Amino acid sequence: MDLYEHQARELFEEHGIVVPRAEVTDSPKKAREIARALGGRVVVKAQVKTGGRGKAGGVKLAADPAAAELTARQILGMDIKGHTVGKVMLAQPVDIETEFYVSYVLDRAAGTFLAIASAEGGMDIEEVAASRPEAVARIPVDPAEGVTSAKAGEIAEAAGLPAQTVDVLVRLWEVLVREDAVLVEVNPLVRTRQGQVLALDGKVTLDDNARFRQARWGADDMEHDDALEAAAAAKGLNYVKLDGEVGIIGNGAGLVMSTLDVVAGCGARPANFLDIGGGASARIMADGLTVILSDPAVKSVFVNVFGGITACDAVADGIVQALDSVQLTKPLVVRLDGNNAARGRAILDGRAHPLVQQATTMDGAARRAAELATTG
Ligand code: GDP
Ligand code: MN
Repeated sequence: MDLYEHQARELFEEHGIVVPRAEVTDSPKKAREIARALGGRVVVKAQVKTGGRGKAGGVKLAADPAAAELTARQILGMDIKGHTVGKVMLAQPVDIETEFYVSYVLDRAAGTFLAIASAEGGMDIEEVAASRPEAVARIPVDPAEGVTSAKAGEIAEAAGLPAQTVDVLVRLWEVLVREDAVLVEVNPLVRTRQGQVLALDGKVTLDDNARFRQARWGADDMEHDDALEAAAAAKGLNYVKLDGEVGIIGNGAGLVMSTLDVVAGCGARPANFLDIGGGASARIMADGLTVILSDPAVKSVFVNVFGGITACDAVADGIVQALDSVQLTKPLVVRLDGNNAARGRAILDGRAHPLVQQATTMDGAARRAAELATTG
């Protein structure tokens, strides 16, 4: 789960990293009051879980409380890369001398953590990383050793950061460890003209597997950026939105992943996928179909089930019952195999829904679903 900037800011502050004074609101009127309390001049910042807000017009300086209200009104409701701005953070502006970039990220491929740092932080860091990779230091961090002052010194030196950042680097690692994060990023970390070092923007991605011991992040913080993902999560379903046109329902992560590949191999693209897991009850099927069919990009749906503990006849019953409660608007291709497959297929044949067709193999079903999705 990604945190909002204001939540990352809060964590940084708790771990002793200096951040600007700031407050969050969803109301322009309140923005004016906050600006007044912060001394008048403020930076108004869109709170969305995506980067590049500055370039998208989501970070603006307001000269006084009236301007803060106006700017907040402009930014609230704004669309930034598909994310609607629901809240703004008002922060006390700082007088930037230099912008740095620092982050720790889990490097899954290398099986370790990586410190990434650059003396050329700010809004163009991606460009710097692409055109002059030597300006970005990448240093492995052994999780068992962590970031000691010595290690932080090594990182700062490799990136050409001033000695003042060493303390921030140590504390930022503490944020990662204590808060169960897989990514902590500060861009920009700034040195002000007065010589102070502050974290001006923060991104934190928490490890979802550790959520049970990070009780402070409740349901409100888990806001999904996709409305359907939120609806699915509320029903306890594992749904992921993708960019194609074939809706995919399967049982078990492995089968679902290979279903995505097979559909792609047939020249179509998955629109989304939903893992109904082990117990494909009628309820779960109905919920799953509702979610998948609510995605306007879906042109056909592929239900791929390999019956194991959950027998195919139970899944077929689930589909038949779901068809009573869900208005099927797109063709459904079902492949049932494994435990009680013959009985399951007979149940679906018996229902004889005009939009439901069956295939006996995964490849055959994928081809059919791809055809239906691409030929309309
Ligand atoms: P991002 O574009 O989503 O990464 O948003 P940031 O919070 O990083 O803000 C973008 C840029 O706005 C920063 O790189 C700074 O250059 C600038 N900025 C943000 N806060 C301040 C501030 O308090 N004072 C000044 N002068 N510039 C700021
Ligand atoms: Mn930033």
